[in-house]
Amino acid sequence: MSDAPARRLRQLGDVSVAQLRNIGEKRTAALASLGIDNVFDLLTVYPRRYLDRTKRVDLSDLNVGDEAAVYGEVVKANSRRTRQGRVMVEVTVSDDGDSLKVVFFNQAWRDRQLTPGVQALFFGKVSEYKGQRQMTNPVVDVVVGASGEERDPSKVGRVVAIYPASGKAGLTSWEMGGFIEESLRRAGPFFDPLSDSEREELDLVDRTQAYWGIHLPEEESEKFPARRRLAFDEFLRLQLLLALRRQRVEASSAGIQHHFDVADLDVSVGELVAPSASLVRRFLAGHRYTLTTAQHRVLEEIARDMSSSLPMHRLLQGDVGSGKTVVALAAMLASLDGGRQGVLMAPTEVLAEQHVASLRRDLEGLSVLDETVLGGERPLSVQLLTGRVRTKERQFVLEGLINGSVDVVVGTHALLSEDVRFRSLGVIVIDEQHRFGVEQRAALRDQGRVRSNEGADPDVLVMTATPIPRTAAMVLFGDLNFSVLDELPQGRRPIETTWAKDDDEVDECWQRVRREAAAGRRAYVICPLVEDSEKIEATSAVEERTRLALNELRGLAVGLLHGQMKSSEKEEVMRQFRSGELDVLVATVVIEVGVDVPEASVIVIEDAWRFGLAQLHQLRGRVGRSDQQSYCFLLGTPPTPEGEERLNALVGSNDGFELAEIDLAMRGEGTLLGSRQQGRSDLKLAKLKDDEDLLFSAQRLAASMVERHDDALVEMMDELRLFVDDEEATYLFKS
Ligand code: ADP
Ligand code: MG
Repeated sequence: MSDAPARRLRQLGDVSVAQLRNIGEKRTAALASLGIDNVFDLLTVYPRRYLDRTKRVDLSDLNVGDEAAVYGEVVKANSRRTRQGRVMVEVTVSDDGDSLKVVFFNQAWRDRQLTPGVQALFFGKVSEYKGQRQMTNPVVDVVVGASGEERDPSKVGRVVAIYPASGKAGLTSWEMGGFIEESLRRAGPFFDPLSDSEREELDLVDRTQAYWGIHLPEEESEKFPARRRLAFDEFLRLQLLLALRRQRVEASSAGIQHHFDVADLDVSVGELVAPSASLVRRFLAGHRYTLTTAQHRVLEEIARDMSSSLPMHRLLQGDVGSGKTVVALAAMLASLDGGRQGVLMAPTEVLAEQHVASLRRDLEGLSVLDETVLGGERPLSVQLLTGRVRTKERQFVLEGLINGSVDVVVGTHALLSEDVRFRSLGVIVIDEQHRFGVEQRAALRDQGRVRSNEGADPDVLVMTATPIPRTAAMVLFGDLNFSVLDELPQGRRPIETTWAKDDDEVDECWQRVRREAAAGRRAYVICPLVEDSEKIEATSAVEERTRLALNELRGLAVGLLHGQMKSSEKEEVMRQFRSGELDVLVATVVIEVGVDVPEASVIVIEDAWRFGLAQLHQLRGRVGRSDQQSYCFLLGTPPTPEGEERLNALVGSNDGFELAEIDLAMRGEGTLLGSRQQGRSDLKLAKLKDDEDLLFSAQRLAASMVERHDDALVEMMDELRLFVDDEEATYLFKS
């Protein structure tokens, strides 16, 4: 290594691209339009592929359609304007045996570069024009100049990186490559935050090797170790951010030590328990069913968190129908046992109302201590707070939360309102987390502390029925602990899923609906998704309901549910469907999450290909919620192979976790991670699927770096400033 001070990535982040040679205002602007402002940005524009110049082909062996490198001497060159006014430079190249026409558009300077006598390498694709082989806009590498001088052979690398060219910004791959090469040469050797022994243990090359190897490899094979190192760095930065965030939260917050005794989970239904036993114990003993093994295990994890003095921050993933609600309920009861309150937040009014109803039913007969009333006990109070709860009722709930007479409040975003305050908030449960942003989660927790006399951070449990692969979860929710409900309650039968393609099959689908209705069960019919227009969607649902009621489902009681209906109407329709007054519910995706009507045994999804895989699985999860055999019918003809793939995947699997993996593979991780990553995304090379081992080792190293808190961490924190804004940096890095 030379004596030059090793280069930090953040220093490169401070160097504007305008400081490079050949970059004027126009190119600076063009690069900026691609999100490339500084030299670090440039170095993270990675090649799309490589051309191996050593794979040279004789001109006589060159075929139309080949992508090849040829070497030859310019024998003729001329320049003219096409009818569209573009400059066209036409060059004839020949080697010992044959010749080839090479054409450049809008590169007027080529006729000065490629004068007769010049020898050069041309890389490109061979096309056919007027019966002749031709290369259009190839990459050119001049080897011998017009006056016979040889170019610096070191500049004629064996392998050329091809960068994503941007027509819109008017930048070619070669210009990009040129900027990057200059950046690398000027940067000199890179500082490496990893020690030699760490690199050796992880089988990683050093950073200098990595950046040169990816951009200017001598041999194409160098790109593999280079990519591996750079991908590792991406994961390491991400995991460090998460670890630092977690540490911050832990250092800056005091939690509540609930009394949640794991032994109280070991009680069987019907067992006699003392009136003085904990609420959890009394509840479980009197409940309709025994916990599944998975529910028991997850509650143990929660009990441990809740008993600790650190605030709980846990993500519960459980496939649709795995029974998350009862887990949430038990967690809230543990909080109530200490005289504290619980919040359950749901993404929709329909779901919030359903939760209130089922909680009230499940908690019937349970009481809590209350010295202010006769006998010192009163029934548990579960209340609803949504946007449509009327003033008087709302006032009642708000007062109850302040004076402690309301134990559990269930609601929607309305819970976030400033005037919602608590006497003593113990636990917050967020159902169907994927509908809420990270910010809302944080807001709720902070407000929980501020707005409660408790003065400490309430425990937070977020639940989601949209499983994401473990690797993705590590990246997205790395600041949370995970629990998984990987088991369905006993007696559940897999839902039979059919993709009804022809008329007979569609006919059979409606017959199935009629048969199930005749047997006292219920059916959902989901109307096509209309992107961006709830109104059109609602109209089509209205029409579809009428059509079905007059035709296929004539004689059945068919109801309607869509997003444009008033809340009171929605509530009434749901009540009728639950009670069986309605046999069929024609609905839009408003029923997607959480809706629990165990008697529903068929779901028909129209134009099913319009929905995403996770959404389809969620919709299907509306049935199969009892020991009845349930059915799912997918209708419609997908216009794309991807649509077909989704439907086939759904027919092929009932397992949300498996489908999540398939979804990830099909859509690529960009969509999944994109929603979370604001600003600059750092995962450019790393791939969750292929680089699992790197992710796990990055996580381990991040944890130990944060623990050791040595110079390497300080270096990395400096580097992380490239990826977080000032406010977050101040929060995370203050000592
Ligand atoms: P999800 O995880 O989709 O929110 P729910 O909590 O709504 O699932 O539970 C789905 C259905 O399974 C509900 O009707 C619930 O009463 C029932 N259930 C939950 N746990 C059990 C269990 N251990 N045994 C039997 N039924 C259960
Ligand atoms: Mg649920």
